[in-house]
Amino acid sequence: MRRILIVGAGQAGLMLALSLRQDGYEVTVVSARTPDDLRRGRVMSTQYMFGPALALERSRGLHLWDDEAPRAVGQRVTLADPPGRRALEFLGSWEQHAQSVDQRLKMAAWLELFEDREGRVVYRSVAASDLEGPAASHDLTLIAAGRGELAGLFDRDPRRTVFDRPQRMLSCVYLHGVTPWPDHPEPHVRINALPGIGELFVMPALTRTGPCTILLWEAVPGGPLDCWQDRPSPEEHLARSRELTRELLPWEYERITEAEPTDPLCTLYGGISPVVRRPIGRLPAGSRVLGMADVVVLNDPIAAQGSNNAAHCAAIYHRCIRERGEGPFDEPWMRETFEAYWDHARHGTRLSNTLLGPLPEHVQRVLQAATRHPEVAARFADGYARPSTLDDWLFDPDQAAAYLASFS
Ligand SMILES: Cc1cc2nc3c(=O)[nH]c(=O)nc-3n(C[C@H](O)[C@H](O)[C@H](O)COP(=O)(O)OP(=O)(O)OC[C@H]3O[C@@H](n4cnc5c(N)ncnc54)[C@H](O)[C@@H]3O)c2cc1C
Repeated sequence: MRRILIVGAGQAGLMLALSLRQDGYEVTVVSARTPDDLRRGRVMSTQYMFGPALALERSRGLHLWDDEAPRAVGQRVTLADPPGRRALEFLGSWEQHAQSVDQRLKMAAWLELFEDREGRVVYRSVAASDLEGPAASHDLTLIAAGRGELAGLFDRDPRRTVFDRPQRMLSCVYLHGVTPWPDHPEPHVRINALPGIGELFVMPALTRTGPCTILLWEAVPGGPLDCWQDRPSPEEHLARSRELTRELLPWEYERITEAEPTDPLCTLYGGISPVVRRPIGRLPAGSRVLGMADVVVLNDPIAAQGSNNAAHCAAIYHRCIRERGEGPFDEPWMRETFEAYWDHARHGTRLSNTLLGPLPEHVQRVLQAATRHPEVAARFADGYARPSTLDDWLFDPDQAAAYLASFS
């Protein structure tokens, strides 16, 4: 059987590794962290996953938290303009529920499952120079190391990259004790947009201490939400979140007055410079390696695309590897495989990049219409789960106008 090396044990690397093991491939995963390190470590994401990505996990027997994790039924969008006042609000239902399972739980369990399935794991953080020997003894080497340094093996693709710096500064905290939305207690995601200032996402999730709620602040750099440089403790994060919501989003303030952080490592800070990279990297002595998921297509989490993309990337690469049979995993194959993935991921990149900028007028009209028409709200919401469906209406002013005209 063919030998595959995967560097990075995250959503993409582990999902591909587990899928290939099921087919009998000889798979080695390089993981910087053990399951215990992961479980005891810091949160890594807010990891919201929509119906189509969850279905891919389920089809491989990997969605182990279906019953435990809160099932979010849709997304409530609130435009706070001016801050403190709700200018617009609507709830869009998704076709299928979405869920967030703390990656600390998920990746630890998947690593153990992979070892149970007789996959081989090398626990070590590797540099590019460590990979030449292992790459030569495998038929294919994939780099699934997320935002780690190994992404530097892949050149930025200027044709597909829009930004050269982070468009938001991120900060999140996991909380217990957030009270449900008064007239809609069913779990759902709340997206509070403060034009020109940033966003606050409020998301039901499952963490290692049970169901919780995650607050994710997306701050426009230099604005009033960009206040996390000192990387405060979870308690200080919560206190600052209370101050910010009391002034800017009082309806969210009311929900968190009794809340408390889930654990000492439940905060995350930073900023992501969205980038698309070329898919083939070259190790120091010349071997070619193929990039996966965040390594090659990195988005700001404003539209919650990264983990979803990672799952789709794993599924697409899995199919391409199987279809290759005994053929060589050469550069043309690598390029084609990535293009198959990019054909999926480009829609999520477009959605993410659109939401990072000032919203085009026709998109604002769609949001206005969504307050009156549940079908518009649902179509907009489901676009996060299936961003390719947005192409022929949301991104095109004429088509958006024609669609909205059908409601008048
Ligand atoms: C604050 C925040 C919120 C987010 N929210 C969402 C969301 O709600 N929904 C969504 O879909 N996406 C979200 N994302 C994005 C999502 O988390 C990522 O896109 C996704 O985890 C990418 O998966 P991956 O497998 O490519 O990389 P990762 O999940 O980053 O996994 C990479 C793995 O490689 C390992 N590694 C790195 N370097 C090395 C090395 N040299 N040697 C060995 N191992 C190495 C790392 O330790 C890690 O385990 C969010 C991201 C952030 C930062």
